[in-house]
Amino acid sequence: MRKKNYPVLVVEDDPVTRRLICKTVGGAGYDTAEAENGKIAQEILKNSCFPIVVTDLMMPEMDGLELCRWIRSQRNAHYIYIVVLTARDSTEDVLKGFETGVDDYLTKPFNHAELLARINTGMRIIGLERSLKQAYREIKALSIIDSVTGCYNRRYLEEKLPAEIKRAQRYGRDLSIVMCDLDHFKMINDTYGHQVGDMVLHAFASRVQNVIRKDIDWMARYGGEEFLIVLPETNVENAAKKADMLRRMIAENRIGVSERDQIFITVSFGVSGLSGKIGCENVVASELIGDADACLYRAKTAGRNCVIKAS
Ligand SMILES: [Mg+2]
Repeated sequence: MRKKNYPVLVVEDDPVTRRLICKTVGGAGYDTAEAENGKIAQEILKNSCFPIVVTDLMMPEMDGLELCRWIRSQRNAHYIYIVVLTARDSTEDVLKGFETGVDDYLTKPFNHAELLARINTGMRIIGLERSLKQAYREIKALSIIDSVTGCYNRRYLEEKLPAEIKRAQRYGRDLSIVMCDLDHFKMINDTYGHQVGDMVLHAFASRVQNVIRKDIDWMARYGGEEFLIVLPETNVENAAKKADMLRRMIAENRIGVSERDQIFITVSFGVSGLSGKIGCENVVASELIGDADACLYRAKTAGRNCVIKAS
């Protein structure tokens, strides 16, 4: 029989009952593991993932309720669905179980089909939880990416840059930012249309992203044709050198936008940063961006296609 997705942990001190449960659950195609009390179950759960736990209540060492309480106190990556099997069927016990975090219960002696039906319900809930989490991760990833250029967006920048600055300040490290603006970009849009304009923005962003340090430097679209590159562990001097390397790379390589058309673009750069050594403990993101922006403005008035760094 084809194995089903999620394995089941069976916790029961009576060996005959335990074997019976495993036979029923295993016979339905689920992988199973066994534990003879809560303590052993705890050790198993610390090392492997069991989305469904079927547990007895009365056991030596650690009983079912205590195990349940422990599971709920953990920060598990995924929800664990707990089904309690008990010989006691007083309302009080059942209520106590639910309060502790039990999801479902069955009284012994159990009916095999009913046990499987309840495990299937648990599987359905686990499956839903996982697809929700997956959807959340995908939405989160999309929400920080600029759809035109494929680099990070302004929202990510506003969240991440202050954190980068704080980290650099705490450990006394250098950090630089480079503000870039495509020269005469409006002319490209006016001459070739916005679709070509978008292609140029995309080409610029990917060229830059290909040459900055992977997993260390990052780039975000600040707005329109403006981008910001963040260079941790880099002083302003070296950031300006890197910016000039980018400037040359962009200016010397045409961007093909159709079979016929290739576009030359140039870019202006403004560089600012914090020094890990002196007086930058209270600098905030807006000041750093303001400095880079002022340098960028000077680069524009100096004739564009150049790099100006903050002194
Ligand atoms: Mg027992």
